[in-house]
Amino acid sequence: MTHHDDKPFAADAYFLGPKSENGPWVRGEFQAILDHWFDWRRSLFADDPEAISEARRLSPAFLHEREVLGQELRNLLDMLRSEVPKFTPRYIGHMVSELSLPALFGHFATLLHNPNNTSREVAKVGARMESEAIAMLAKMVGYEPKLAQGHFTSGGTMANFEAVWRARYRMDHGLSLGLVLAERDGDKLDPFAAAHMGWRAFEQISQERDVDEEALRGASMVLGNPFEVARRIGKCTGRDYLGPVLITPGNKHFSWQKAANLFGLGEDSFWNTPLDAYGRVDLDALAGRVNDARDTGRPVLCLTSVTGTTEAGEIDPVDRVADMLDQLKEEGIHIWHHVDAAYGGFFCTLLGGPDEGVLAIEQRSALRAISRSQSVTIDPHKLGYVPYSCGAFVCRDEHAYRASSFQAPYIDRADTKDKWRCTLEGSRSGAGAAATWLTGKTLGFGPKKFGKIMAAGIEARKTFQEALARANLLVRPLEPADTNILCFSLAKPGEALSQSNARTLAVYTKFQQNPDFSISKTVLGAASYDALIDRHVAGYGGVRDEDRLALLRLVFMNPFWGSDEARNALMPEFIALLGEFTK
Ligand SMILES: *Cc1c(COP(=O)(O)O)cnc(C)c1O
Repeated sequence: MTHHDDKPFAADAYFLGPKSENGPWVRGEFQAILDHWFDWRRSLFADDPEAISEARRLSPAFLHEREVLGQELRNLLDMLRSEVPKFTPRYIGHMVSELSLPALFGHFATLLHNPNNTSREVAKVGARMESEAIAMLAKMVGYEPKLAQGHFTSGGTMANFEAVWRARYRMDHGLSLGLVLAERDGDKLDPFAAAHMGWRAFEQISQERDVDEEALRGASMVLGNPFEVARRIGKCTGRDYLGPVLITPGNKHFSWQKAANLFGLGEDSFWNTPLDAYGRVDLDALAGRVNDARDTGRPVLCLTSVTGTTEAGEIDPVDRVADMLDQLKEEGIHIWHHVDAAYGGFFCTLLGGPDEGVLAIEQRSALRAISRSQSVTIDPHKLGYVPYSCGAFVCRDEHAYRASSFQAPYIDRADTKDKWRCTLEGSRSGAGAAATWLTGKTLGFGPKKFGKIMAAGIEARKTFQEALARANLLVRPLEPADTNILCFSLAKPGEALSQSNARTLAVYTKFQQNPDFSISKTVLGAASYDALIDRHVAGYGGVRDEDRLALLRLVFMNPFWGSDEARNALMPEFIALLGEFTK
């Protein structure tokens, strides 16, 4: 990899390389991990007898089994030859690429010890590494690491569910208190205000008004019958209680729909917010959604912003959303703000460093404002170069992390060290946490090293976009691209959108049939992307005769796009191929 003299950081020492260039020393490290594992076993209980004697190991029955296992393992390896080659810079399809060496080493070494981070009883070291790794991610997004709490999940989907789960408990506390005060003391009940009173007010009011847990439990939707409690709320307010809503921007990931379904909210409670002409959440529309919820007496269970959308890598104006929510806080309305940074969280490593200029100033402000949210989802198995399955859920403070109903008698609260009571998942491998931990210890989650890799991906996207648009007059990039994902359609000036959609999708099919490059496609619908589709089509004087926009999608995550050699060899080849396909 060619690096400029002012960039002494050798990113290429952190990856095996598309030709296994670092193979010899990587083999040595894997060997060291195995040696350590073998020695560890021998060194513990050293006086115990061998369980498998040499005579056994040479017996025909034993040798036969070894042969069977060896053959089937060779079969497995053979099958894996046909696996999708995601390590090469030619793979620019989805949000996955080459794995980093610290992540691989950390994952593999820990895998052999098989910690289950659900409890310290089965993960003495694993659980400690998890806390440290969560603190590193918390620091990366600007939370105070000492106050932040979180855990690793199987991915972003689960991490998003964790946020909704906690938001639901918090809402239930406020709403129950409101209902008790209405039924017992004749207070006026506003379900929207009660659900959003926040932890501090909840604790203060329940103390001042002498509301005990027994009473709260009798008004809880989580512990009681939610339909019955809703009926009682309706009786106090004089209008039917319709339940909470989830407010998500139209660029959200499908996991939010799953969350609405899973938490029993119904499609009607899933409030999509339209996007602006740039594919980011429209702030006026968002404020309108919150007002609608307020007017109809429906609490906002959780309001989500996205940094790094799955479709195009766009970053919502988290800072301006946080400003809006801060204004509501002055009225005592605390709405849970969750940032889905599953993809884009790692762009925070650019902030405050020499390369942060690769991001526009609005996007930097947005990323900085993640620190103002209640909770965040980060997927190390995407831009963290960590193996699957590894997502993370982090709360800004311990209060937000609390996930329990009113104290049930059988729950021993003194036991807070073990995570299993407050994670949706039960058993959890410690390998992902360790992979993230070793990445943090080596590459770090700051601008010096990790940020350089992020910058290289964004630069590669920019270079590619310019070269492509110069070489192929049909290429219509989705602009502005916020990060390292390049989306474009293929259209002639003045053409109908239906025609360019058909061409774009046909070219995608040709790429699918060609093994040389892996790309992906995305189709944006007018329900969320109306303004953006208009702007995109107007950019080449096209005619909008369809309510969807088909785009080819290239994700520049592979660290070797930062290498001049790789880029100089592969970019012209891609451009030629696209030229052939669009002829
Ligand atoms: C990928 C992604 C998710 C889901 O993450 P998984 O790890 O696939 O479960 C959620 N939100 C966004 C923005 C994503 O990009």
